[in-house]
Amino acid sequence: MNALQSIATANGGTRAAGTPGYRASRDYVANKLRKAGYKVTLDPINFVQSWAENSPPTLTQTAPNSKAYVPNEDFFTFPPSPAGDVTAQVQAVDLTLPPAPTPSSTSGCETADFNGFVAGRIALIQRGTCPYATKVRNAGFAGAAGVIIFNEGQPGRTDAFTVDIGEWRAGIPMVFADFAVGNELAAAPGTTVRLKVDATLKLGTDHNVIAETRLGNPRNVVMVGAHLDSVPAGPGINDNGSGTAAILETALQMRLYPVRNKVRFAFWAAEEIGLLGSDQYVEGLSAAERDRIRLYLNFDMIASPNYAYKLYDGDNSDGEGSPAGPPGSAQIERQLANFFDRRGLGHVGTDFDGRSDYGPFIAVGIPAGGIFTGAEGLKTAEEQALFGGTAGVAYDVCYHQACDTTTNINATALDVNADAIADSVARFAFNTTAIP
Ligand SMILES: [Zn+2]
Repeated sequence: MNALQSIATANGGTRAAGTPGYRASRDYVANKLRKAGYKVTLDPINFVQSWAENSPPTLTQTAPNSKAYVPNEDFFTFPPSPAGDVTAQVQAVDLTLPPAPTPSSTSGCETADFNGFVAGRIALIQRGTCPYATKVRNAGFAGAAGVIIFNEGQPGRTDAFTVDIGEWRAGIPMVFADFAVGNELAAAPGTTVRLKVDATLKLGTDHNVIAETRLGNPRNVVMVGAHLDSVPAGPGINDNGSGTAAILETALQMRLYPVRNKVRFAFWAAEEIGLLGSDQYVEGLSAAERDRIRLYLNFDMIASPNYAYKLYDGDNSDGEGSPAGPPGSAQIERQLANFFDRRGLGHVGTDFDGRSDYGPFIAVGIPAGGIFTGAEGLKTAEEQALFGGTAGVAYDVCYHQACDTTTNINATALDVNADAIADSVARFAFNTTAIP
């Protein structure tokens, strides 16, 4: 963590995606792992370096009728939309019209919504339930030539507006329209429209650092990950120099273990701008490669100054937020919990809300787990009783700020969690029979 702090200090106080501070962090970690004998790969991933709209977008019905909608009023470009100019038939995707009384449309959220979608058409999708980016990505996978998402239709959810969805990988133009536009296009199946976005999208490249043991069964891979980037505002020493340092040290300490399973350490790029490193890594795996990953352990913020020992709620025993993780997630949570139980240390659950790099793994059915000591949320009275610290205060008052330096680390939490990580990685390195 001192090394990461020095890197940030020498590079304008940050280690964010696309900066020299990130590249120096990448090189530091990769060199340590190479010297320890790991097989190290720098895995390139893309992010949006800049995006600018050159002229207003076009959305015009061309057949059977001719009608132009008003840009930046009836509809807006979704930043960071790629440029594109396509004329094609519109095809509705699982719409709920008239809209339900309360927001509930799942249009475009599931890949099955695109069963029967004809490649080359423009997908007409309704807002609701899942992120815009998910809908756009699913449309891209289905071969859509463009995407129109329209507001869902309930009071307060009728207008068009501009919203950056951080997603461009479908490579097709995308706009957000008001409810009236969507309703009109849906009412006349077979309508052809021209959709044009005139924008300049510049992509940058960063690298995930992937390090694998030379020994171990390659058909039974134990993956361990931490994001390596910080936010632009600060050096990111708790978030996530702490997880980075803990898994790096675990890798260095176990370099001579005759592991039975392949252990693969991942230091993710561009987590802070949308889980880009882990998402693109998982997307790039073949089905066979995914199947070989038996489990994924994630460590993002493990030394928060006002910490709680939070274990990802793999079995959804808390009944909060997202559902249980894929089968095996409960067993991962159990193994981590055993570490704390044996030492008489308390622990609590934390929802699998998808806010860190385990998200892309559980989305494809790979069981996951990990430890988190809390971010901007406030410590509860129960947690103060269990862990000390101060109830009603953020777990990390310097979360995503310039003050997330080496002084923003709780040494006790770091010590306990680094041991818990080493313990769990070592156990899974030899035995994954608990994972179905
Ligand atoms: Zn983080």
